[in-house]
Amino acid sequence: MRRAAAAVEGPLALVPTMGALHDGHLALIQRARQIVGASGAVVVSIYVNPTQFGAGEDLARYPRPWATDRRKCAEAGVDIIFHPEAGGLYCDDHSTWVYEEVLSRGLCGASRPGHFRGVCTVVAKLFMIVQPDIAVFGQKDYQQLAIIRRMVRDLDMPVKIIGVPTQREPDGLAMSSRNTYLSPQERTEALSLRRGLLTARELWRKGEHAATRLQSAAKKAILKGNGITIDYLEVVNPKTLQPERHVQRGCVMAAAIKIGSTRLIDNIIFQ
Ligand code: AMP
Repeated sequence: MRRAAAAVEGPLALVPTMGALHDGHLALIQRARQIVGASGAVVVSIYVNPTQFGAGEDLARYPRPWATDRRKCAEAGVDIIFHPEAGGLYCDDHSTWVYEEVLSRGLCGASRPGHFRGVCTVVAKLFMIVQPDIAVFGQKDYQQLAIIRRMVRDLDMPVKIIGVPTQREPDGLAMSSRNTYLSPQERTEALSLRRGLLTARELWRKGEHAATRLQSAAKKAILKGNGITIDYLEVVNPKTLQPERHVQRGCVMAAAIKIGSTRLIDNIIFQ
């Protein structure tokens, strides 16, 4: 990977993914290409990073459609795919970690202990290996994007971080590799997550700015979906990710739900 990167003369963009590529990933790849231009190179990493999965999570069953991913990358004009083998990025006695200690506390960090330690560590390792000028991440993982920005700032990593808006299916469901776990029935019920977030934003646009009332309205709409439980649903400050009581323009409502054994996340910005 280092040799391939060193041979690139123009700017280098990295798009880190866990594979099972969908149009959300492709939007990141397109944005990367737009920025680096024809003379630059786009690197897509495909690695199901074991350290960001907790015990009992879906590491073993996470989809790994390598041949399809490779074809999609070729069609999207990706210059380099970095695809380490399963344990390939970690030595057996790996013992060095990157922690972000404030933004990682709430939301997904609270329900997935150790998750963001795994994310920060693997992204830091990818930055060291690929040494990109820019790296592109999706706003669907809003907390992850905020944490990566903080890590890069705090550790003086010479990488520019670019965020790309959430890409959705025509019916509004946020694209996710985990959507493949959903049965047709669950796929229909899952739409209530987006509906709940839209309900809250409509109410806000009509003048309701109390977080508690926006949250209850969103929860009520989400729970209309059969078999759904809410992991968390919060309104947070877009930078600090601290809960907000009075919801101003730019605040983010972020939610995680479980439907059957599948965990899905989404968010909406009040604007
Ligand atoms: P993943 O493969 O799920 O780890 O995601 C790799 C990158 O793609 C992350 O930066 C995600 O935020 C981004 N991503 C995933 N789904 C979407 C989506 N629906 N829209 C935009 N970006 C996404």
